[in-house]
Amino acid sequence: MHTTSKLPNTGTSIFAVMSKLANEVGAINLAQGFPDFSPSTTLMRLVNEAMVEGHNQYAPMPGVPALRRCLSDKISRLYNVTCDPDSEITITAGATQALYTAITALIKKGDEILVIEPCYDSYLPAIELNGGIPVFVKLRAPRFEIDWDEIESKLSSRTSMFIMNTPHNPTGALWTASDMAQLSRLAEKYDFIVLSDEVYEHLVFEGANHETALKYPALKKRSLVCFSFGKVFHNTGWKMGYCVAPEKLTAEFRKVHQFLVFSCNTPVQHALANFLDDPNEYLSLNNFFENKRDVLLESLVDSKFDIIPTAGTYFQLLNYSSISDLDDMSFCERLAREHGVAAIPISYFYHDRHDDRFIRLCFAKSDQTLREAGKLLSNL
Ligand code: PMP
Ligand code: GLN
Repeated sequence: MHTTSKLPNTGTSIFAVMSKLANEVGAINLAQGFPDFSPSTTLMRLVNEAMVEGHNQYAPMPGVPALRRCLSDKISRLYNVTCDPDSEITITAGATQALYTAITALIKKGDEILVIEPCYDSYLPAIELNGGIPVFVKLRAPRFEIDWDEIESKLSSRTSMFIMNTPHNPTGALWTASDMAQLSRLAEKYDFIVLSDEVYEHLVFEGANHETALKYPALKKRSLVCFSFGKVFHNTGWKMGYCVAPEKLTAEFRKVHQFLVFSCNTPVQHALANFLDDPNEYLSLNNFFENKRDVLLESLVDSKFDIIPTAGTYFQLLNYSSISDLDDMSFCERLAREHGVAAIPISYFYHDRHDDRFIRLCFAKSDQTLREAGKLLSNL
C-alpha cells in the first residue's frame, strides 16, 4: 500500500521522547511540562460528585453553560472586559485542541502565518496540515525579546494570522504593554487574525502583569485566545481548556470543533464550574510557582550554567555553553543517561533546529525533587 505522509518532516514530539528516555534510564524528569503533585482533593471530589449526580452524557457542543458563565465572570473580574458566554467562549479538550481548531477553521491554503520562534511544538504541524505558510521571526537570545522591526518586515497583505504566546514556552519571557501596543498597531495595519496562546496566564512572577489580547480592543476584536485548565489546576492529564473569541470567529471555530470532538468531558466541566468559585485557587499560583522557581535557582547557584531567572511559566532555561560543545539534543541525552536529569533541548522549538546551547527545565515539582536535580546538575 502506498501512502504519502501529510507531515513528512514531523517525528514524535520531543516531550514524549524525553519522558520515555527519563523513564528508561530512571532520570528525574524535568523535561515534559507537568506537575509531580496532585490536583486539589476538593476538585477531584467535585468531579466524582458530578458523575454520581448523573452528569455523564454529552455536554452541549460549546460547553456546559455554567462553566462558560464562570469563565466570562473570571475574565471580566481579572481584565475588565466582557465576553458573552453563549457566543464567545468554547470549552475544548485542552489548549492543543483549541489551537488546532482555530488554525484549521481560519487558515486557507497559501495563507501566511507569522510564527515567533522558539515556539510550542503543535503550531507548525497544524499550519502544515492546513496548507498554511509559516513565516518565521526569532526572538533575540539571551533575553528573548521581540524585534518589532523584523516582524513588520515579514508582514504583508498575505499575512492572515499572527500567533503569539505569553507567558512564553519555552523561554518564560512575558509580553509587555509596549509589545501589545506594537501588535495592536500592526494588526490594524495588516488586518490579520491573532491566535493568542495564554495557557500560563496565572504563572507570572515578581509582581508582573499578564498581558492578555483580551485587554486590548484592537486585538480583542480579531483574537482567538486559548487557555488550559491543566496548567492552572495541576491536571494536565484531564485535557481541558477553552477558547475565547468574538462571535464571528467563534462561529467558524465551532464549525470545526463540533466535528473534531463534538463536546468535552461533562463531569469535569460541572466540577470546574463549581471550583472556579474560589479565585484564590488560581490567584495563588504566581507565588506558588515563583517559590518553586527560587528553590530550583538556589539549588543551582554553584553550577556552571548561565541562568537568567524566568519571568513566567513553570520553565527555566539554562545555557550550557561554558560546560560543553555538544549540540543540545546530545547534551540532553548525556544529562539523562550520565547525570540522572531529563531536560528539553530548545532547538526542538525551532523549525531549523537553531541551537544556542539552551536546555529547559520544568520546576512544577516537589521542592525535594528540585533540590536533588539541582545537586546533580551542579556536578557538571
Ligand atoms: N500551549 C503551550 C504554550 C503549552 O505549553 C501547552 C502545554 N501545556 C499547550 C499549549 C497545550 O495545553 P493542553 O495541555 O491544555 O493541551
Ligand atoms: N506543554 C508541555 C511542555 O511544554 C507538554 C505538553 C505535551 O507533552 N504535549 O512541556
